Amino acid sequence: MKLLTDLDLSELKQLMSAYGEPAFRADQLYLNLYAGKDYPEMTNVGKALKERLAADGYLAVGASILESHTSKEDGTVKFLFSLADGNVVEGVLMRYKYGNTLCVSTQVGCRMNCAFCASGLEGLKRNLSAGEILGEVIAANRFDGGTLADRRVTNVVLMGSGEPLDNYDNVVKFLRLVNAEKGLNISYRNISLSTCGLIDAFDHFLEEDIPVTMTFSLHSAIDEVRSRIMPVNKKYGVARVVDAAKRYFARTSRRVVFEYSLIKGVNDREEDAAALIAAVKGFPCIVNLIVLNYVKERGLAGTSRKDAYRFAATLEKGGVSATVRRTMGADIEGACGQLRAKYIKNTNR
Ligand code: SAH
Repeated sequence: MKLLTDLDLSELKQLMSAYGEPAFRADQLYLNLYAGKDYPEMTNVGKALKERLAADGYLAVGASILESHTSKEDGTVKFLFSLADGNVVEGVLMRYKYGNTLCVSTQVGCRMNCAFCASGLEGLKRNLSAGEILGEVIAANRFDGGTLADRRVTNVVLMGSGEPLDNYDNVVKFLRLVNAEKGLNISYRNISLSTCGLIDAFDHFLEEDIPVTMTFSLHSAIDEVRSRIMPVNKKYGVARVVDAAKRYFARTSRRVVFEYSLIKGVNDREEDAAALIAAVKGFPCIVNLIVLNYVKERGLAGTSRKDAYRFAATLEKGGVSATVRRTMGADIEGACGQLRAKYIKNTNR
């Protein structure tokens, strides 16, 4: 399987020139691809060329919308995307004052196996290619009535299922594709990459000069606790994650975010707040507190909203900026990976 959306414009131009097609054909194809069109819908591309591409194994659509669920409360849309091989991944479109943010998945499943997360329940199935991740953005943009000239998806967060830095090459290529001037042209400043802290891969990422907002999933500043809920901590502990965040800030001057999902009785105690303050105090960052979404198979309970606000107040008092993330689309589906898990269960795959 080959995907045309895996190619950037210059690679598409090379392909067209190898086919003996005029150069403008690549631009024409590109516009069709970024409009989310499959071959039959590309009315300005000749039949012979489309047949040749298909015969060579090229697919035009990276991800298609299998299901969409729109929240009546706030317009959040949860997508179930299908990939060409029948795998499914999730995405969420959230509406903010400044624009619409699409949360994309980067892997089918995940191998990090965090104790609270639905995505890792069955391990990693496979990586998404750059064009598949891009396909999620193209499909959501089209779904919402957007075009290349008038985008409905203005921001992207890599916070769906998967660990972005565990699918390094494809994620880096995706970032370059989605940022491309003639493509969706989404500024790196409007993209957040969330990682559980794969520091060796992160060190390579620093060298790429892709100044996205970096979000580190910390969830505890106490190694013993973090190792219990995030197995990755045994390799990359709290100090290395915080150090990586500091190096990112030093290099990019971009304020770093620490994600902290509050789990009742596990990481929401006074001593947890104190450890967090000690770990990040004096460093220009923001702690994004999230009340844990309940995942049945995981069985961990979230902190109450009231206690989440108390935790935030403790951090603020200790000199650390904190926000409690508001819940969006609460009426459509819960935590990461849950819609997919339900779909797989219902279809028995
Ligand atoms: N692998 C990346 C992206 C994961 S999803 C990472 O670890 O950052 C984005 C965020 O959602 C992460 O901070 C993740 O830890 C968090 N998360 C996963 N399951 C959750 C749940 N059930 N409730 C709240 N947050 C959760």
